[in-house]
Amino acid sequence: MKYNDIANLIFPDVNISTDEIFARYPKRQLKDGQMVTRFAPSPTGLVHIGNFFQAFISYNIAKNTDGVLFLRIEDTDRKREKVEAKKVLYDVLENFDMKFDEYQTLDGKDIGNYGPYVQSQRVEIYKAFAKKLVSEGKAFPCFCKKTEGKEDVLKQRETKFVQDDEKEYDPCRDLTFDEIKKHIDNGESFAVRLKTKNRGDERIKFNDLIKGELEAKANAKDFVILKSDGTPPYPFAHAIDDTLMGTTIVVRGEEYIASTPAHIELFEALGFKQIQYCHNPLIYKLNELGNRRKISKRYDPESNMMYFCENGYPKEAVFEYLLNMINSGFEIWRKNNPDKAWKEFKFKPSQITTVAPIFDLVKLNDISKNVISLISGEELFKNWLEWANIYDPALAQVLERDEEKFVRVCQMDRDGKPKPRKDIYNYFMMKEKFHYFFATPTEFNIDKEDRENANEFLNEYKKNFVMPASNEEWFNSVKALAGEMGYATDNKLYKANPEQFKGNVAKACEFIRQAITGEKDSPTLFTIMEILGEEEVKARLDVKF
Ligand code: GLU
Repeated sequence: MKYNDIANLIFPDVNISTDEIFARYPKRQLKDGQMVTRFAPSPTGLVHIGNFFQAFISYNIAKNTDGVLFLRIEDTDRKREKVEAKKVLYDVLENFDMKFDEYQTLDGKDIGNYGPYVQSQRVEIYKAFAKKLVSEGKAFPCFCKKTEGKEDVLKQRETKFVQDDEKEYDPCRDLTFDEIKKHIDNGESFAVRLKTKNRGDERIKFNDLIKGELEAKANAKDFVILKSDGTPPYPFAHAIDDTLMGTTIVVRGEEYIASTPAHIELFEALGFKQIQYCHNPLIYKLNELGNRRKISKRYDPESNMMYFCENGYPKEAVFEYLLNMINSGFEIWRKNNPDKAWKEFKFKPSQITTVAPIFDLVKLNDISKNVISLISGEELFKNWLEWANIYDPALAQVLERDEEKFVRVCQMDRDGKPKPRKDIYNYFMMKEKFHYFFATPTEFNIDKEDRENANEFLNEYKKNFVMPASNEEWFNSVKALAGEMGYATDNKLYKANPEQFKGNVAKACEFIRQAITGEKDSPTLFTIMEILGEEEVKARLDVKF
């Protein structure tokens, strides 16, 4: 068979050889242990938490080994590619401060020597390798009209665990040169398929850095390596790009395990050294009945990384939560090292969980409360404003206009306190939480039977109100008045004979708190009063419940 002639016939315009391509991609000079990892998303318009999870693992492996992390945009499925989708991806990566050593900028400039870092710009390369395989008799053109449909099957196999036992030799695998020429002369388009070696029922063993030795059924299909529009489906692009770009570890979702034998066959056909895989478990959620299901973009807003940006979660909180999911040892490490940065927690791929992690927003919120409790008021203000500038510009204006006041709001019960309040888990909630700094409260949470007493007490309290000089002074003045008005100033006495009093001092404080904040619970009331100022406090005390 004149394979070389077939290759030249179907690829007359592909003049570059694979050797010439290899010359453009010199082997990376790596020191012992240095790893090269990558994030290879398809820009779909949202960054799924599962993909981000992989990116984060890749990021850590590269950083922990002083290696290289690069970003490759997998946009060969052009129907789906949109400029905005890329923008969303870059925005999310920037929000999380995920820095790559090599990537292509949004305006198309390659940073790094192994580009282009966008697959749609690498079509010439894929064609050259496809041509080589055809010239060696390892791949062939397929003119079946059904071919595009068959790709769907392949795609399904890429994305789901589809166990497909039937062998599938393609009818075009044995076309002669003359038959092929006839199709070409007719102007027919073609896909290129790998001529599988078909090892029958043999099972292929391969090593996975997380799961150890795995095995799966050998590939038995003449699968498509180049679509009729000249673009490669995932397996072909993956084998070529990760080889040329010098990736040493491919971190990808475990849905790819089923098709790994097909990828291994491709590496063999291309004469490439097999790259190490690290198949990470997928992220699950518990439904109302307590059953596990994959986290889904349809039902779970938090499956979209934009959720954390829009709601203003500090990136450190999200990272800490991801580390928790990656390795349960992180929680203990965090307890023992409360002041260390998360980056100091190092893990090896073999320490990544093999059990599917369950996403739990309550847990993330707890971690986030802790992260936020550790930052200074100034920093909290800065983060809040930065977030508001993007997601709530009207709020940002207010914060900026009254910066001094809102810095103090952020400092309440925080700066200098050994146990800062842990009640904020994202920046979105802060406006609602501190609503009484934005507007006078109009709704009060006061029990019906307390209303009369409250009105009576506030009426007296406001009469001679002057801003106290300290928390202590404030409390003493409330205590004195409360005592005069029939409230217990000694809690033991009150507990022994509650019916003799209108309440205790805490009750009197609650009335003031309600008048000023509309809340039963708040940071130190004296601090709130100081921030609001005497006039405003007086005006608020003039309330009738
Ligand atoms: N574009 C593929 C995906 O988003 C990449 C998989 C991989 O990392 O190899 O699933």
